[in-house]
Amino acid sequence: MDSYWIDSTKNNATFEKLAQDIACDVCIIGAGLFGLTTAYYLAKKGLKVVIIDKQEVGTHTSGHTTAKITSQHGLIYDYLIQSYNTNFAQKYLNANQEAIANIKNIIDSENIECDFKYEDNYVYTTNEQDIEKIKAEVAAMHSLNFDAEFVTKTELPFNTLGAIKFKNQAQFHPRKYILGLCNSILRNDGQIFTNSTITDVKKDGNYYYSYTHSNKIKSKYVVLASHYPFLKVPGFYFAKMYQVISYVIAIDPKTKLFNGMYISTETPPFSYRTVATPDKELLLVGGYSHKTGEKIDTTFIYNKLEEEAKKYYPDCEILYRWNTQDCVTLDKIPYIGEYSNLMPNMYIGTGFNKWGMTSSNVAANIVTDKILGIENKYEEVFTSTRLQPVKNRWEVRNMIKDTTEGLITDKFKIPTDTLDSIEKDTGKILEINGHKIGVYKDTSGNIFAVNPICTHLGCLLNWNNLDKTWDCPCHGSRFNYMGTNIFDPAINGLEIYNL
Ligand SMILES: Cc1cc2nc3c(=O)[nH]c(=O)nc-3n(C[C@H](O)[C@H](O)[C@H](O)COP(=O)(O)OP(=O)(O)OC[C@H]3O[C@@H](n4cnc5c(N)ncnc54)[C@H](O)[C@@H]3O)c2cc1C
Repeated sequence: MDSYWIDSTKNNATFEKLAQDIACDVCIIGAGLFGLTTAYYLAKKGLKVVIIDKQEVGTHTSGHTTAKITSQHGLIYDYLIQSYNTNFAQKYLNANQEAIANIKNIIDSENIECDFKYEDNYVYTTNEQDIEKIKAEVAAMHSLNFDAEFVTKTELPFNTLGAIKFKNQAQFHPRKYILGLCNSILRNDGQIFTNSTITDVKKDGNYYYSYTHSNKIKSKYVVLASHYPFLKVPGFYFAKMYQVISYVIAIDPKTKLFNGMYISTETPPFSYRTVATPDKELLLVGGYSHKTGEKIDTTFIYNKLEEEAKKYYPDCEILYRWNTQDCVTLDKIPYIGEYSNLMPNMYIGTGFNKWGMTSSNVAANIVTDKILGIENKYEEVFTSTRLQPVKNRWEVRNMIKDTTEGLITDKFKIPTDTLDSIEKDTGKILEINGHKIGVYKDTSGNIFAVNPICTHLGCLLNWNNLDKTWDCPCHGSRFNYMGTNIFDPAINGLEIYNL
């Protein structure tokens, strides 16, 4: 199902497919929040920009977000001070606080109607053992001279034991904002192409050539704004990030809602924000996130979210259900800047850790400054080519374990299921004549068989019974049951078998 954001802006944007070879100053691959914001800033500075996307603009992660615009990225500041230092944490905070103001400036100067609204943001807990963590975060914020407050009462319809409040954060309708950015880019002579997949980027002399299946774009600069970079080397981002899926429902509560935006300290957390639509106020309830491709039963995740919502809004109507995924870095800091030291003039912004509203603006500013040859005061915090010891050993261990299982261990396990043992409307991996085959049996008993090996780096895929997809536990690529690629970093679909 489409998100509310996409459903409510369905017919508002259509762009052409790239149908000829073209040239520009900057080729931006990906029309999500990062790519379009970068294009906006560069086009304003008079550079000739081309943005190209394999789907329609803002329909990937940025079209399925919850769109809280905040510098409060969970309980991150105490971690940053402990893992780095106060100066580092201060820069991270200032960059993200400035991003809120930058987004508001764009909205005002371009007259974008996107339901922007200032709201306070809270990280709350209902667990006794997390109260000290919240208090430590409040102390961290005070050491950064930021006015954060410890509160025990919020407007949520249930009791919390404690929360940290950041005032004057914000929320908006992300796709209306994205479409406003597109209009402004076009007014500044930028070009936007959609339904055009870039399959490779090659350097020749001083220029890059970005190839679709039939055409190429020549440019001096390339910005990889494709969410998870589809180029594998020499960036090696696949060794530094993984993807996490989160689920969202939009409900009509049939009663008055609260003020504020909220996320809990639990793992995985619950998230709440309101949405003003033309005729009623909706509530977004998010939660049950997990690593993409994890071997868990996803079938009832929306039911669980609905049960949660109905505890507090028993008469509510469920209007939308959606999920999407974001890239998570091992040290909790996005990668922004040069794609690789070996590829000058190619830039990246990724690993927004589910906080891409402000992070994409921070990234767009840093990359714009790099292309214009201006030093950015925050660039060192986000250095994309960093090789520091990883701060989060638990994440590293997990990632190595999942990648080893997907690439090696699971490939040698012999599945015990047979074609007959697969229940209708589910999928399994079978072993037939020594080959692993991914089989989905639909509700009528029709069989859809694919080679269950990810076309990105060759990991064995896992079946996701909620979305009826084959998901990669290593780097998060996803394919529908017919083998079509639906989520990066893979570009190509799966091989199809006739059984
Ligand atoms: C459920 C959920 C809720 C979230 N809520 C929040 C929130 O409340 N606040 C917040 O700050 N952040 C939130 N985030 C994070 C935020 O939504 C993302 O970080 C952000 O949208 C990522 O933007 P992007 O431009 O990097 O990626 P995208 O929006 O995914 O854009 C990348 C684009 O690149 C295109 N592309 C990919 N490969 C190619 C190719 N080969 N050729 C051409 N085009 C290509 C894709 O089609 C896509 O349009 C949330 C994330 C999730 C998963």
